[in-house]
This record gives sequence, structure tokens and C-alpha cells, in this order.
Amino acid sequence: MGLSPVLLNDFQRQWTVVRDDVLRAVARTGESGWYILGKQVAGFERALAEFWGLRFAAGVASGLDAIEIALRAAGLQPGDRVLTTPMSAFATTMAIVRLGGIPVFCDTTPQGLIDLDEADAALRAMPGIRYFLPVHLYGLPIPRPSLRALIETHGLICIEDCAQSIGTDCGHAGVAAATSFYPTKNLGAFGDGGAVLSNDETLIESIRRLRDYGQSAKYVHAEIGWNSRLDELHAAILQEALLPRLRDWTERRRSIANRYLEGWTNPDITPLFSREALAESAWHLFPTATRPGEKATWIARLKSAGIATGEHYPAVIPDQPAMASVPFACFGDLPNARRLASTQLSLPIHPFLSFEEVDRVLESLGAHGN
Ligand SMILES: *Cc1c(COP(=O)(O)O)cnc(C)c1O
Repeated sequence: MGLSPVLLNDFQRQWTVVRDDVLRAVARTGESGWYILGKQVAGFERALAEFWGLRFAAGVASGLDAIEIALRAAGLQPGDRVLTTPMSAFATTMAIVRLGGIPVFCDTTPQGLIDLDEADAALRAMPGIRYFLPVHLYGLPIPRPSLRALIETHGLICIEDCAQSIGTDCGHAGVAAATSFYPTKNLGAFGDGGAVLSNDETLIESIRRLRDYGQSAKYVHAEIGWNSRLDELHAAILQEALLPRLRDWTERRRSIANRYLEGWTNPDITPLFSREALAESAWHLFPTATRPGEKATWIARLKSAGIATGEHYPAVIPDQPAMASVPFACFGDLPNARRLASTQLSLPIHPFLSFEEVDRVLESLGAHGN
């Protein structure tokens, strides 16, 4: 009998755990007879804000929309430049471009998160950039004091992309945090969803208008908005079945990361983060770096052992075909981000992964020269 595959995410195992709570949330929503912007969304927004330690949350239809609507509510105008990272989900940049903003990319550290020294140099070299969109990539939060210092030095309006880092010390340095409930995220719903969080009530009120056709009162459209509402159904499921489990799920991710780090022997492939990140990161992913030119070999070797891998991300954003017709700027040649695009490999990590499966991955990674 062959071994079952080791997946990057295992939604079927998750279902066996959350099933009863999800079905109860569905029944409650059905019985309420109210499906858009009602008590479930309001209740989940309060619970999420409390979980995060921020005053307000506004549910929207996706992580992309959360970033885009937050940037608009924070005043972004067409032609405004936004400093951001070339190593992220494409949605980070797409939010800027969809508003007519101009992304400016600066390099990352060798670990893939935006390099704040490079960001500082870019802001000095290209005066007048007011918006900043950092990403807490792979689950690891950029240290809050360093972010605050950069924001204050340059008077930046900062929206933090927290799509991968929910449950960590993120989203408190800028004016707002944007997050995603896409199924693979640490707080993943049964479909699309997202939220913006902030201590700024005026900003959140603006986001609540913008997500609902820009309505300031019923049938009064004060501005051109979006249809970007979190459903009552998703809010109920998130609040009842998923959010109460997030802390435990994050702890489980940390013990899996710990097991990888303790069992690691092969220097030909190296974890991007060490033990110092164990308690800080939400371990959305377990990123590694292969030696140059060896990524494809590793993907094939793990695949033949039944182990799924991911690439986060295989290209820097300015190299994406869609960017050919879009104005943007790069500060420098982005060498660290480019190296990661060709060497980064993500290993399975999710709350339902067993230690036996982690050990199978470690065994397939083998020792040096194997
Ligand atoms: C997933 C993700 C997004 C987009 O979220 P969606 O809900 O898929 O729109 C944005 N930024 C980062 C870093 C992400 O990982």
C-alpha cells in the first residue's frame, strides 16, 4: 500500500474537526433570514478586532479588496506612488494598480521580507512617496518598532498587508491592517473574504461606505465604491467555527516548524527562518531556499515521494506579464528578491499535518549529498 500524499493544505481533515460548528453557523444564518450586512458580520467584526487588539474591523469580499479599499479610504489618488515589495502575492501590487497608483518596488532581505534599509534609501532617493504597503510575508511580522521608525521618519501613510500573518504582532504600525480569509490562509473561510482593521474610526466608517456602493445613507451614493461585502454566512462560520480555533492552530503550526528545524540535517536546502522566528511567526508557510539551479530537482524529488511543495513566489512582481503595460518603478535591481524567486521552496505546514508526515518530509530531504 502506498503512503498517502502529504498536502500543502488538508481541508478534508479540517472539515472533520469544524463540521458541527460550521453546520450550526449555517443553520443560524438561514434561520435569521438575513444574508448581507447584518448581525453576523457586525459580531464577527467585533470578535476579530478584539482578537487582533485593534479597535475596529470591517469585513470585505477578499484580501485584495481589503488592501484596495483601505488605500482608497486612506486617500490614495491616481498617480500617487506606493512603496511596496516585489516578493508577495500579486494581489498586493494589483490593489495599488487598480486604484491608478504607481507601485515602487525595493529589494527584500535574503529572507524575502521587504528590507527596511532599502525602503529608507528608496524614500530618500525618490522624494515625495507618501504611501507604504509592506507585507508580513510567510507569517513573519516585520518588527513593529522598525516599521514605526520608518513611517515616522518619512511621514508615510502605511497600510500593512497582513494576509499571511494574522495572529502575530502585525497591523499596529500603520493606519490600517488588511487581511484575507482565502481558504489557504491561517484563518481561511469556505470561500473568499477579507477584512480591514484599524484604530481609526473615521477610516473604518469610510471603508464601510466604500464596500457598499459608496452609500452614505440608503440610496445616497456619496462616492463611487465597490460591491465588496463579507457575507453573513461567512462571518457566522468564521466567528463560530474558525476564529475560536485560530490560537491553537497557530500553536500547532509552531510545533511543526519546530520539528522541521530540530530534524533538519541537509545543508543543500535551508529553512529561511531559524528558531528565533518560532514564537513570532504565524508560520503561514515553511519557506526554504535551495541552492541556485536546484529548485526543480527538489520539487521533483519531493513529488516522487508524494510530498507537495509550493513556490512563494516564482517571479518578482515587476516581471509579471501584466506589469508590462503598467507604470511602476524599481529601486535598484532587486537582487535578493530575484534570487529567492529562483530558489525559494515552501514545504507542507498546516494545523492538521501529523508529526509522522513532517518526519516523512525530513526523510525525503535527506542528508547532504543524498
Ligand atoms: C492571499 C494574499 C492576498 C490576497 O488575498 P485574497 O483574499 O486572495 O484576495 C494579498 N496579499 C498577500 C500577501 C496574500 O498572501
